[in-house]
Amino acid sequence: MFADLHLHTCFSDGTFTPEEVAERGSRLGLVAMALTDHDTVEGCERMAAACKERGIESASGIELTAEREGCEVHLLGYFVDVRCPKLLAETRRFQSVRQSRIFEMVANLNRLGIPLRAEQVFELANCRSPGRPHVGRALVQDGYCETLDEAFDRFLKKHRPAWVPKFKISAFDAMDLVHNADGLAVMAHPGLNRSDDFIPMLVEHGLDGIECYHSKHTPSMTARYLQIAAQYGLLVTGGSDCHGFSKGKPLIGAAKVPAVRWRKLKEAWENRRKKQSTAQTVDGVSR
Ligand SMILES: [Zn+2]
Ligand SMILES: [Zn+2]
Repeated sequence: MFADLHLHTCFSDGTFTPEEVAERGSRLGLVAMALTDHDTVEGCERMAAACKERGIESASGIELTAEREGCEVHLLGYFVDVRCPKLLAETRRFQSVRQSRIFEMVANLNRLGIPLRAEQVFELANCRSPGRPHVGRALVQDGYCETLDEAFDRFLKKHRPAWVPKFKISAFDAMDLVHNADGLAVMAHPGLNRSDDFIPMLVEHGLDGIECYHSKHTPSMTARYLQIAAQYGLLVTGGSDCHGFSKGKPLIGAAKVPAVRWRKLKEAWENRRKKQSTAQTVDGVSR
């Protein structure tokens, strides 16, 4: 009995629709799934419906790129209210920065003699949250590179000639945004970011959980983060970080997240909601 709580769709840089993700999850026998597209919650309602149809539990989710003292930290928000006006306004802002970044990367490629047009990338991306994989796919499509890996290695990886630094909000702001939308804030794949030193201060600021299971975590990383989660009393989450075919082969189901972790996450959210509504009632009475 496993869950997969870190999945990307065509609403950001994945290649599957929410329905395709739900269908694949169903075939793998997953008990719960959550979409965590970059800077958007657009796919969440379709995902919830597609999961429900297949008898799978689901949570809304988002992945935000944040930073702390110059170090990249990815923040996941679970059970966020997908209609929260502040969340929607902020994600729109992040999306427009993403679109500007595409123009900048394409301009860099043009300077290198590759006549790619930003419009081609947007057409291929067909979403509001375009990213580097879309530029990479355009390079492959037009025959400038053989594979997506080659596109990243030659042009798009950090410090390669077409790379443009990504805009990041502060880790605290990202957590506040998630909490403001009634979600749980979880640190994504800490094993990939060398960000362990920040865990205590994020916990201090109200971090709810850590993504211990991830397709790129080694068994020793998973063990280490499970230990850290226990030490700080944090929730444990996990997921494959599947992007469909846009980063190699689909990884859905690869992180083997025990279903009990999903149940504890859901319980924690339900308990918080109950507490909040009680507090609001008390507040209402006292006024
Ligand atoms: Zn990430
Ligand atoms: Zn991700």
